[in-house]
Amino acid sequence: MNLVEKDKKYIWHPFTPQKNMAAPVAIVKGKETLLYDENGHAYIDAISSWWVTLHGHAHPYIAEKLYQQALTLEQVIFAGFTHEPAVTLAEKLLPLLPGSFARIFYSDNGSTSTEVALKMSLQYWWNQQQPQRKKILAFRNSYHGDTFGAMSVSDRGVFTMAFHDLLFEVIFIDTPTSNNLPATLAILQQQHPHIAAFIYEPLVQGAGGMQFYEASAMNQLLQAVQQYGIICIADEVMTGFGRTGKLFASEYLTYQPDIICLSKGLTGGTMALGVTACVQRIYDAFVQDDKLKTFFHGHSFTANPLACTTAVASLELLEKENSMAKVEWISNRNKLFASTLLAFAQVKNIRTLGTILAFEVDKGKDEYLNNISHTITQQCMQAGVYLRPLGNTVYIMPPYCITSAQLDKVYTTLLEVINAVTE
Ligand SMILES: *Cc1c(COP(=O)(O)O)cnc(C)c1O
Repeated sequence: MNLVEKDKKYIWHPFTPQKNMAAPVAIVKGKETLLYDENGHAYIDAISSWWVTLHGHAHPYIAEKLYQQALTLEQVIFAGFTHEPAVTLAEKLLPLLPGSFARIFYSDNGSTSTEVALKMSLQYWWNQQQPQRKKILAFRNSYHGDTFGAMSVSDRGVFTMAFHDLLFEVIFIDTPTSNNLPATLAILQQQHPHIAAFIYEPLVQGAGGMQFYEASAMNQLLQAVQQYGIICIADEVMTGFGRTGKLFASEYLTYQPDIICLSKGLTGGTMALGVTACVQRIYDAFVQDDKLKTFFHGHSFTANPLACTTAVASLELLEKENSMAKVEWISNRNKLFASTLLAFAQVKNIRTLGTILAFEVDKGKDEYLNNISHTITQQCMQAGVYLRPLGNTVYIMPPYCITSAQLDKVYTTLLEVINAVTE
């Protein structure tokens, strides 16, 4: 049996209908922007392998640091122990964060980083004898992960349908516009004594279809939320580390979060790691004589030294490789291409922010489960470009090391595919 046959026998893939599943592509090597399959075909990874890869695949600098750390200390329990990679990462990361963050809590992935943020917020109020503050405010169309708490604060949709009865109740509001803001502020005025926290993806709802919303209306919403003392949780799992043109999307906003969630690009896309950072006021609510007020949360691999090492190396590369200048360059190229796309009647709602370019292909249907996404993916793969549309939302989000020729190829392929699927 070859690799794909064995896979078909033993493996269950994420987000993938298993009946009549198309054979997965066996990737044997990655280098910079390229992924190589077992037959030697190369694919430009135009979505950074689900938004994680920043500096390119198998980066030698990160690999070397990882190897050295693996020879030194690969893992140790993080209750009662500490280690250099965890401390160095916290020390480097805290001053970069948008706002005035004081503490870093580690976990393993994006979903756990938001779970931790929710539990921290709820217990913050509980610890201060205000247990009535237990509702979470969240946006419609949001995505914060796949574990139960994260699912609860995410949009109720096809992905979560089997669990709807079991998800906790959330106050959902629309992403802000000057039109809907008065209605949202009225909800806040009525419900604020019961609201513990507000969780949001700043400016871009990723899994919800790369939907953007305005900074100005968001500032007004955040201002109101903060006046009521509600804890603001910025889920920057996708937007962090330069994706939107600034190091963090929150930098586009005037009002900064009390908690920030990071994962995906945190390690440059090399290892699984989650960070939940909080401001001093949150941390202080857990520094108490009463041991019941401890934050009883952790994972076997909390602050894994290998993961922390790759995150430190990725932060170093962001500086060394002048990544933000590359982001700006990609952003400008995207804007130019977006203006070309205006000529295509089948393409709707063209938008760009930083390394993200997105649009909808108008096929009349607006369903995630239709197969236009699969068709586009297949056609692009044949051209040597890897894309994975969200329903009929086509987007790119390349690693920062993508070359000019590779970007050209991505754009050309997009144009070919648009013509092919909409003719
Ligand atoms: C991907 C994502 C998550 C979940 O992260 P995982 O590592 O996949 O669990 C949470 N929030 C946002 C905004 C994301 O894009």
